[in-house]
Amino acid sequence: MLTFSNTYQDLGDAFYQRIHPAAASNPTLLLWNSALAERLAIAPPLTEDTDLQARLFSGNQLVDGSDPIALAYCGHQFGQLNPQLGDGRAHLLGEVLDRHQRRFDIQLKGSGRTPFSRGGDGRCALGPALREYIMSEAMFFLGVPTSRCLAVVATGDPVYREEEKPGAVVTRVAASHIRVGTFVYFAIREDLQSLQALLDHSVARHYPEINRQTDGNKALLFLQAVIEQQILLVIEWMRVGFIHGVMNTDNMAISGETIDYGPCAMMGAYDPATVYSSIDTQGRYAFGNQPNIVRWNMTRLAESLLTLIHPEQKKAVELAESILKLFPEKFEQAYFSMLGKKLGMADTDSELATELLQTMHRDKLDYTETFLQLTQSLDNPDAAEHLSEKLGDWYKRWRDGSSPDQELMKQNNPVVIPRNHHIEQVLASCEASGNADAAKAILAVLRSPYSAIAGTAHYQDLPVDADAGYQTFCGT
Ligand code: AMP
Ligand code: MG
Repeated sequence: MLTFSNTYQDLGDAFYQRIHPAAASNPTLLLWNSALAERLAIAPPLTEDTDLQARLFSGNQLVDGSDPIALAYCGHQFGQLNPQLGDGRAHLLGEVLDRHQRRFDIQLKGSGRTPFSRGGDGRCALGPALREYIMSEAMFFLGVPTSRCLAVVATGDPVYREEEKPGAVVTRVAASHIRVGTFVYFAIREDLQSLQALLDHSVARHYPEINRQTDGNKALLFLQAVIEQQILLVIEWMRVGFIHGVMNTDNMAISGETIDYGPCAMMGAYDPATVYSSIDTQGRYAFGNQPNIVRWNMTRLAESLLTLIHPEQKKAVELAESILKLFPEKFEQAYFSMLGKKLGMADTDSELATELLQTMHRDKLDYTETFLQLTQSLDNPDAAEHLSEKLGDWYKRWRDGSSPDQELMKQNNPVVIPRNHHIEQVLASCEASGNADAAKAILAVLRSPYSAIAGTAHYQDLPVDADAGYQTFCGT
């Protein structure tokens, strides 16, 4: 029904701690992702038996072949190196191959303390578990590379945050949980053997084309490939207005998937300085600063790879810098190409695109709504007139000068995004009712974000107060 393998364990004891999930008192299945289960070729009875799902995805019962571990890693938290983090409340149950023979990790989060828990309780509250499920599903259907969730199970046990909350376990499915911080972990310990093993594993798993190159520097090619994926990722975040919120090096997967949906949020009115995370007081992870942080994180990855790039440090630094210095140009190119697509242009006019963003910023226009209106205005004279008033002669220059391609715009400008105020309402409703009906209702809409579903337009409503004072929290 679910066939696990455990290749990460082959890397050796330094990479993890073996630890079983804690038992939940009264596991109850709240959400089950049957489309994802189908992709992962999960078979009956597991696809049908909700009690079995609840037992397996709370950690109360283990599938044969599962060898649960908590992963070791470190991370730069808000720029400061914390040499020892690791999964403090997560258990990697094992890996599965999907229908296309691609390998995925299946991990429980909120499943109890591990040797890496430090002061934490190893638990997850229901709200954040549902948030991760809904947000990652929304991102997946928006077309953004991301981990996904297979299940949310209420544990029946309370967790204590600022107040008592219902507890839950969320099951995360990701291409892997190897982070920038996993490389840094071994580099700072000068454990070259583990570092090499990690590189070999990561290349084979995520960038196998590198192994097919007969010459070339493996560590350098890996760095280059990860940078390319990270640029793709952050461009996609910016296309849909996503703010990750906590881009610490332990939360950046080298696969290029979005992981760790803690304090994430969606930008409403366009402003590059938008920050919602309560602890990000300096705006380090603000919407518009995300590319700079990706570059900063990639520099940390490069540092951790130096000894594998070249035995002579000077030469290694030169080689790494030769790759890193290409970042700004590669990013700019990808960024304007993305904006061009949002504007329906085959060849992006970057000045025209920049001018629009400046107007949106100055006039506090909603990012998603403005691009949607632009799209719709192409075959809706009323919307066109409305936008001409709002955007002045820019609108005419864009429309007459670039003959925008409406199909391209429809593919790149969502009709609906998981707006912060709706997500908060849904989480509050689920917490109050103890069921996931509100989550299921919004998920039905978020699973087709590029087309309007009759009767669900209210999910497109802008927040009445433009998200003023909205805050997200890490302590999930
Ligand atoms: P995050 O900010 O969610 O990426 O978490 C940073 C680190 O803190 C990770 O190593 C987590 O495993 C750990 N952590 C977060 N919350 C808890 C918790 N409730 N109990 C134990 N460890 C936690
Ligand atoms: Mg994390």
